[in-house]
Amino acid sequence: MTETDAIIIGAGHNGLTCAAYLAMAGLRVRVVERRKAVGGAAVTAEFHPGFRNSVAAYTVSLLNPRIISDLKLGDHGLRIVERRAQNFLPSPDGQYLLTGEGRTFQSVARLSQRDAGCLDTFSRELEAIADVLRQLVLRPPPNVVEGIGIGSVREAFNALATANVLRRLTLEQQRSLLELMTRSAGEILEQRFEHDLVKAVYGFDAIVGNYASPYAAGSAYVMLHHAFGEVNGKKGVWGHAIGGMGAITEAMAAAARGHGVEIGLDAGVREVIVERGRAVGVTLDDGRTVRAKYVVSGVNPKLLYTRLVPPDALPAAFRHRIGNWRNGSGTFRINVALSALPSFTALPGAGDHLTAGIIIGPGLPYMDRAWHDARAFGWSRKPVVEVLIPSTLDDTLCPPGRHVASLFCQHVAPELPTGRSWDDHREEVADLMIATVDEYAPGFASGVIGRQILSPLDLERQFGLLGGDIFHGALTLDQLFSARPMLGHADYCGPLKGLYHCGAGAHPGGGVTGAPGHNAARVILRDHRALFG
Ligand SMILES: Cc1cc2nc3c(=O)[nH]c(=O)nc-3n(C[C@H](O)[C@H](O)[C@H](O)COP(=O)(O)OP(=O)(O)OC[C@H]3O[C@@H](n4cnc5c(N)ncnc54)[C@H](O)[C@@H]3O)c2cc1C
Repeated sequence: MTETDAIIIGAGHNGLTCAAYLAMAGLRVRVVERRKAVGGAAVTAEFHPGFRNSVAAYTVSLLNPRIISDLKLGDHGLRIVERRAQNFLPSPDGQYLLTGEGRTFQSVARLSQRDAGCLDTFSRELEAIADVLRQLVLRPPPNVVEGIGIGSVREAFNALATANVLRRLTLEQQRSLLELMTRSAGEILEQRFEHDLVKAVYGFDAIVGNYASPYAAGSAYVMLHHAFGEVNGKKGVWGHAIGGMGAITEAMAAAARGHGVEIGLDAGVREVIVERGRAVGVTLDDGRTVRAKYVVSGVNPKLLYTRLVPPDALPAAFRHRIGNWRNGSGTFRINVALSALPSFTALPGAGDHLTAGIIIGPGLPYMDRAWHDARAFGWSRKPVVEVLIPSTLDDTLCPPGRHVASLFCQHVAPELPTGRSWDDHREEVADLMIATVDEYAPGFASGVIGRQILSPLDLERQFGLLGGDIFHGALTLDQLFSARPMLGHADYCGPLKGLYHCGAGAHPGGGVTGAPGHNAARVILRDHRALFG
């Protein structure tokens, strides 16, 4: 049995961020991770001899600049580069859209003069709301507290401060915010644009990790969630971490260790130890126990409360609600080793478009059909696939002249209908995804010399992502902000004293942001000061 101030369950990027902040404030911190590597879903690995790639998460934008600077991730080797073009959307009819700094307007204008005229207004509208989100991500949302006491007074001040952020919006911007929080991306985009590819470039962000039609209410928020990031000070831009996403979490682990954090690998938590209504430590899979003043969970909240916390330690109503926490983002992930760069029919040969997020999903109706198909069949026979070829920006991933690509495929069922198992369909679906890209870039499939496949079930088994949910719980209005993970528990604390939430199941949700880890550390340090001065 060992003792420490804080024990963190899971060395995902949020667990590592939380650990680093707590240690920087002088706490003794241990992190215990079930896998043999740090990083959770933000990790790089060799998947074919000589070929490495980000295994799950594959592109950076949401990682908060304050965290990069506080943890001095640059000093620990992190280098993030911009894509030379942001998105490339080929269409089966040979048209294409290519977005990025200095390109978007012209490319849209080639498709539709009318849409080009609407771009600026829509970008400004999105940017104003994304700015609000940026101000809210690094602070705990107002928590609902029953009764009157210190907690309710604190939350009243928190609510006022949050309202103050929102008050800086004009009335017109507040109307946009309401629309973006509640309506479908499809409706909003149909009202503003006419060309399918223009609608699709925004609409794709509304269905990434969101097992829903782009016409589903609430999908506009998911679009917004993907817009609040930045790379090297450029807002809304996506980039690449040299060495893959593992470079981010390796740098975080180095920062944490530099402040004295101990990280134990191959050390899964079997149970949270609860004594007299307080979490006081954890029991590991091998039977060892670690006692701590604070137990901090970086895993999906449903996993925590239904598998790691003894059921009789929780109020029945809480257990029931967290049992209904909605997981399952409907994604399928493939890494491929390529003998050569692909060539797209719509824009043949090499070029900056091959550094972009290449979206196979040429319209909102296509994305809508993909979802309906997956609902009925288990996966979409005409799927939506984003292809990213990080080796066009990073020569550390594979031998010269070869390439690696990440395929992020949307709209597969978290669980297959009629009791079928993903284990029996993994290869077949991977073939379909690769064939789908091949339709737009003939020769792509024959250039694949190695592949790694992760179905939703594989994501759950390997990373503890229940239902393969990339966000630790759907980003729907009932699971966001003050309701993440549950109304009354948005303050990074659950119903058990001493047990905190620092993973993506807490505000502001999924993505490689570091924000839940940062915010949880703030709350734990506040409680620590209240207890120990
Ligand atoms: C396929 C895929 C693609 C994605 N693409 C992107 C992207 O391009 N960009 C982006 O910003 N985001 C992306 N995301 C989302 C993002 O990766 C996640 O939301 C984010 O990594 C969550 O971080 P976390 O630290 O909260 O949790 P996780 O990364 O899930 O880490 C939790 C850790 O807890 C560990 N754990 C689980 N159970 C136990 C236990 N019992 N004991 C000890 N440890 C345990 C896990 O092994 C894991 O290491 C993607 C995710 C996936 C899956």
